[in-house]
Amino acid sequence: MIIDRADVIVTSPDRNFVTLKITTSDGVTGLGDATLNGRELAVVAYLTEHVVPLLIGRDPACIEDTWQFLYRSAYWRRGPVTMAAIAAVDVALWDIKAKVAGLPLYQLLGGASRTGLLTYGHASGKDLEELFDSVRDHQEQGYKAIRVQTGVPGLTSIYGIASNATFDANSGVRYDHEPAQRGALPNEEDWDTRSYLRHVPTVFEAVRNEFGPEIPLLHDGHHRMTPIQAARLGKSLEPYDLFWLEDVTPAENPEALRLVRQHTTTPLAIGEIFNTVWDYQQIIREQLIDYVRSAVTHTGGITHLKRVLEYASQYQIKSGMHGPTDISPVGMAAAMHLGLAIHNFGIQEYMKHGARTDEVFEQSFTFEGGMLHPGEKPGIGVELNEQAAAAHPYAQAYLPYNRLADGTVHDW
Ligand SMILES: [Mg+2]
Repeated sequence: MIIDRADVIVTSPDRNFVTLKITTSDGVTGLGDATLNGRELAVVAYLTEHVVPLLIGRDPACIEDTWQFLYRSAYWRRGPVTMAAIAAVDVALWDIKAKVAGLPLYQLLGGASRTGLLTYGHASGKDLEELFDSVRDHQEQGYKAIRVQTGVPGLTSIYGIASNATFDANSGVRYDHEPAQRGALPNEEDWDTRSYLRHVPTVFEAVRNEFGPEIPLLHDGHHRMTPIQAARLGKSLEPYDLFWLEDVTPAENPEALRLVRQHTTTPLAIGEIFNTVWDYQQIIREQLIDYVRSAVTHTGGITHLKRVLEYASQYQIKSGMHGPTDISPVGMAAAMHLGLAIHNFGIQEYMKHGARTDEVFEQSFTFEGGMLHPGEKPGIGVELNEQAAAAHPYAQAYLPYNRLADGTVHDW
C-alpha cells in the first residue's frame, strides 16, 4: 500500500478550515487538520507546493519516518506554518493506520486511560449579568469547568467576549466568541492593563459568590502582561482557586514565567502558539507551568505533541489542549484520542462548532455530561463531506489586534 494522492481542501462553513485528505492505493483515506487561523492559505501553499509531491508513493504506515523526513529535510525547521502542515500529514496517517487496524485511534496510542475527557467551555459577558447568564447556559449544556472572561470598564472591545452571550452555537449563524472576523483588514480592539488588573479579581469574587466553590474556573490573560503584572494578577486571584491562569505573558519569552511563578500559587497554562517540544523545554524542566496548551493541529500532530506531553509527565505537568473553534472537528477528534490515551491528561478546551461545520465534518465524538469522548469508529472518527465543503469557499478573515489609549500597538 502506498500513498496514492493527497488533496488540500479549504472550506469556510462558518469559518475557514484547511483539511488534508490522504488516499492510499487501497482506497483508504485519512484526514488531518491544517487550519492556521488568519494565515490559512500559507499552510495550503506549503502543503500543496512542497509536501504533497513528497508524499506520493510513500508507505503510509511509516508515520515516524515521514514525520522526521518532513521535519528534517526542509532544513528550515519549526514555525507555525511548517508544524501545522506536518501535523496534518501526521494525523491523516494515524487515521489511515487506525482504519486499517479496524480500531479507534486511541487504541493504537495505548488504549483508554479514562472513561471520558473533562472539558471546559467559554462563558463571557460584557458585564456580570451577561456573564452569569453565560455561566448558567454552559452549566445547562453540561460543562463541568468554565473559562470566565468579561468586559473591562472603559474598554469597548476586548478579547474573549461573545457579542451575544446567549447565542446558540448550533444555529449555524455565528460562533460564540469567534475572534477572527471576515474582511480585508483585522478589527482593532483597545486595551488597558491597569484597568484589567483592577477589574478581574472583582469578577472572580462575584462568580464564586454566585456559583460556589466547587466549579473549576479558568481565565485567559492572552499574553498581555509584563511578568510583574502577571505575578500580581496570579496573586490577586489566589482566593478564588482557579483551575488555571493562561497566557499571562507573551509566549516568545518563556523566562518571564519564572518571576510569575515566584509570586503566585495560581496554576499556570501556556503554549497555544508554541509548535515544538523545544518551545517547552525550559518551562517544563524548570516547572514553570502546570498545563501544556498546545493543539495537535499546531504542534506537529499526534507524534510530536505526544512527545511534548510525555516529557511534561516527568514533572507532573498535564495536558490542556487548545480547542477553540479554529481547531476543526478533525483536529478536535485527534486531540480527544490523544487525551484519552495519555496518563497526564488534564482538561480539554471545547467550543461547539456551528451547524454548517457539523454538516461538512461528519463526527462520531460525543459530549455528554461535560465529558468528551472520541467514539469507537475505526480511525479518528471524522469524515469530510466534500460536496458540503465545496458549497463554502474560502473567505478572508483575520484575528483582531490591539492598541493602547495613546495608539501604541499592544499584544493581542
Ligand atoms: Mg489562550
